[in-house]
Amino acid sequence: ALERTFSPWRLGALQLPHRVITGSMHTGLETLDDGGAALSAYYAERIRGGATLIITGGLAVNAEGCGADDFSVLGDPASDARFAAAAAAVHEAGGFIAAQLFHAGRYALLDGVTDAHGRPVHPVAPSPLAWRSAGAQVPVELDELGILRTIDDFRVAAERAVELGFDAVEIMASEGYLINQFCSPVTNRRDDEWGGDARRRRRFAVEVLRAVRRGVGFDVPVIVRMSGADLVPESSTQDETDALARDLVRAGADALNVGIGWHESKVPTVQAAVPHGVWLRYAEAVARAIALPSDPTAPTAVPVIASNRLTDLRDAEDILARGAITAVALARPFLADAAIVDRSRNGHFDAVNSCIGCNQACLDRSFVKQPVSCLVNPRAATETRYPLTLSAAPAHYAVVGGGPAGLIAAEDLAARGNRVTLFEADAHLGGQFTLAARIPTKEDYALTVAHYSARLSELGARVEVSHPVTVDELAEGGYAGVVVATGVRPRTVDIPGASLPHVLSYERAILDGVPEGRVAIIGGGGIGIDTAKFLVLSHDPAVRARAFEEQFQLASPSTYLESDALPQRTRVRERPGAAPFAPRPGSSVTVLRRTGKFGAGMGLTSRWVALGELREAGVQFVSDLDYRRITPEGVEVIFADGTSSLVPADVVIVCAGQVSHDPLSAGLAARGIRHEVVGGALDASRVDAVRATRQGIDAARRL
Ligand code: SF4
Repeated sequence: ALERTFSPWRLGALQLPHRVITGSMHTGLETLDDGGAALSAYYAERIRGGATLIITGGLAVNAEGCGADDFSVLGDPASDARFAAAAAAVHEAGGFIAAQLFHAGRYALLDGVTDAHGRPVHPVAPSPLAWRSAGAQVPVELDELGILRTIDDFRVAAERAVELGFDAVEIMASEGYLINQFCSPVTNRRDDEWGGDARRRRRFAVEVLRAVRRGVGFDVPVIVRMSGADLVPESSTQDETDALARDLVRAGADALNVGIGWHESKVPTVQAAVPHGVWLRYAEAVARAIALPSDPTAPTAVPVIASNRLTDLRDAEDILARGAITAVALARPFLADAAIVDRSRNGHFDAVNSCIGCNQACLDRSFVKQPVSCLVNPRAATETRYPLTLSAAPAHYAVVGGGPAGLIAAEDLAARGNRVTLFEADAHLGGQFTLAARIPTKEDYALTVAHYSARLSELGARVEVSHPVTVDELAEGGYAGVVVATGVRPRTVDIPGASLPHVLSYERAILDGVPEGRVAIIGGGGIGIDTAKFLVLSHDPAVRARAFEEQFQLASPSTYLESDALPQRTRVRERPGAAPFAPRPGSSVTVLRRTGKFGAGMGLTSRWVALGELREAGVQFVSDLDYRRITPEGVEVIFADGTSSLVPADVVIVCAGQVSHDPLSAGLAARGIRHEVVGGALDASRVDAVRATRQGIDAARRL
């Protein structure tokens, strides 16, 4: 049914069979000392799942262009060997691969990075302006010679990429990196031939493209990843962005891949709070800028690729149907599901393991230089550690608990040829993901449950819901092993008045809803923040999308064809987790925390967005206190200076963490039944779904 998505197109000299590109993503595998084995396995599995063109994570064109010390430099022998192996693996699997030519400019965190001669290097930029980040240095302003040398480094790197077997290159000119820094008046304060007005600021981008083209010729496609909107105050205007797009087309770009936002932008771009498809407007604006004035509805001569917050190929089909966009680039969705293309091609949308935008195992790790994986797919980027080979001695296993850890254990066991019976005490699968899916912005968590349900059914696993299984039953079942994934229960608090009828656990509040009135939340960790979101954010994604546009004053959706007959915006697909609760904007909600940061334990990229949403909605935060008692009027707290206060509340919700719920492992051990305890049942010290899903697959491999 996805006719446009699965129609061929031409990217320069390459003919591609469909319009879904695997966008650039730094995985952390690029510098592993394994000869490129892990990177090759990661890429090849995605090609076997239907991907056609993979763009690598950024490959620095010189040492000073590295994002950090875990970046590869094109031309470094060890790194080149890894990428040559990865390119060969992609070709063997039947796909194409493009090298992203990268220079971080002032975003470079170069502690520990040396050049080919072992000398420390220093960040460079158009102007000596540091960005606000721990470890960021004031960059050295490039002089004329430095600029020319850097441009030539792009050419040399591109040539090297072709020698290594790459089929195409992508010039990274977006996301606030060096080329983008030259284009923007915020970071380019020069007044020479490389700055001073918009035309001169664009010159560096154009000269890099020309140099790369000279290097690789016309048989190798050159994509430019340009910034559709920097989302930084006083940065490039839409007219300047349009002019850049036209200049890049004139200079010979084979495609423009439109990125959004800088790392220092105050506007979230990739988090779950960002509406699906919201950035399409900027890609369409680029397409409009390069369209023929005589026929603005004709496909542009140079393909425009849309990216960011696209997770569903049905949305991609809608986007392509609007006419302006030639292809889409997805990055994280390929981490979540190596076979997203084939599953979607076959119409098995429920079977797609969707990226839920949590960032917990990918971007949050990438920013602290840890290897990337995926919360909903713990095999991602660890394919060599968890090969998909059949079990040597297939057997019948029981998995108890249908939360994320149990689902992943069950799926892995079944996928490797074992018989699996999954027991779930509740009436439906999902565990903590069922709660999460009721939180506004987290509706997509329901898609994970849908995926694993579909997979278990496809693999012939038996799923018994509403079945609280006992040790006796497990013993009688004759299972070769049992995975105990029985999860957590909300922690209760030892505060006088905690048993009053207006005191609810977060679980009851989220499952049953909360009566109107003033609410005090005891506990300001991740669950407290989610519970506050549950109370004050709209449960309608379309309403939130409009609020997002207003809050961040996004340019109005550009209608490429300016036709009433076409949708003005991409459809926001129904998300199955959307809960039937009325929005309660303006509800009086106070989040209380004894000590520590609100949202502590949340991911680096998500915490600031969630706190911003809550502050915007008027939620109050009060910390550095102790609880004296809960009364029918509210929560009495004492502050460090001895003063006390009543936080008025008609409803008190306790979000004080969880305790492990494991009614089975002691009995199983007593009977000598082989078992593995995973997820919250093993350790409820903090909510860590990444740890839980990793434990799920590890247990499945150990049994
Ligand atoms: Fe998507 Fe989360 Fe997986 Fe990252 S960790 S790819 S955001 S589901």
